[in-house]
Amino acid sequence: MRQVRIEVVTLFPGLVREALGHGVLGRAIERGLVVVACEDPRAHASGPHRSVDDRPYGGGPGMVGTPGPWSAAIDAASARLAAATGVSVGGAGGGLRRVYLSAQGVRFDQAMARRLAATAGLVLVAGRYEGLDERVLESRIDLELSLGDFVLSGGEFAALAVIDAVARLQPGALGDERSGEEESFSVDGLLDWPHYTRPVEWEGRSVPEVLQGGHHAQILRWRRKQALGRTWLRRPDLIAALDERGGLDTESRTLLNEYLAEREVEKNG
Ligand code: SAM
Repeated sequence: MRQVRIEVVTLFPGLVREALGHGVLGRAIERGLVVVACEDPRAHASGPHRSVDDRPYGGGPGMVGTPGPWSAAIDAASARLAAATGVSVGGAGGGLRRVYLSAQGVRFDQAMARRLAATAGLVLVAGRYEGLDERVLESRIDLELSLGDFVLSGGEFAALAVIDAVARLQPGALGDERSGEEESFSVDGLLDWPHYTRPVEWEGRSVPEVLQGGHHAQILRWRRKQALGRTWLRRPDLIAALDERGGLDTESRTLLNEYLAEREVEKNG
């Protein structure tokens, strides 16, 4: 059985643990497909207050994570991960990666989730305050990942997003493996098609007729058309990328043109 082990370096292990017990992620952990452990930098701090932050050099507001306890926590988490997986941590040679969640990192996406899901384990470092002393990032971090262009007050929610995205990619995590193969960013990198369930009529809106018919080939064609169309409307960059890869074949172009023509008719009543 494939298993991915994730160590989270966090000042709020309770927050991380509380979020792990639900839904797909909860089941993946229960089945042993994902193992999550936390390491608290405060456990590596000394002094009466076990302080893990200090004022920034150069002045200004906020505090900065101090190098000692944060590096010690990352090292402890890395050592535990290396011992459990037999794979060394850090470096460019394909070892286990130490990831800092950061607004300044590369954007986390499904392709990255797939890459991380295929590894034996990860150390996820959730920052707080103004962030960590830069020297910790230089010496202990292999990759910085951002959830998007906004600022969170801590990296825990970003770490949880990464854990969830990685967990659902583990074989056996989803009730039906097709769910993972047929969602956004999976089929040709397109967005998912729209979904409907009972009742067939709701508030004057009907489920599209083709989905009610049970004609498999027609349903597949409709879904592909919707996926292409809504990706074209919402994420033209994904269509451009598909085209660049040579994946926008004649059939796809026909479907896209049909979608746009049907939309035009709908708009004009
Ligand atoms: N001073 C930092 C900056 O302006 O880039 C923001 C620090 S933020 C208040 C505290 C922590 O939240 C960061 O150390 C990081 O771990 C996490 N964080 C904030 N925004 C994030 C994002 N968009 N993606 C991932 N982690 C984020």
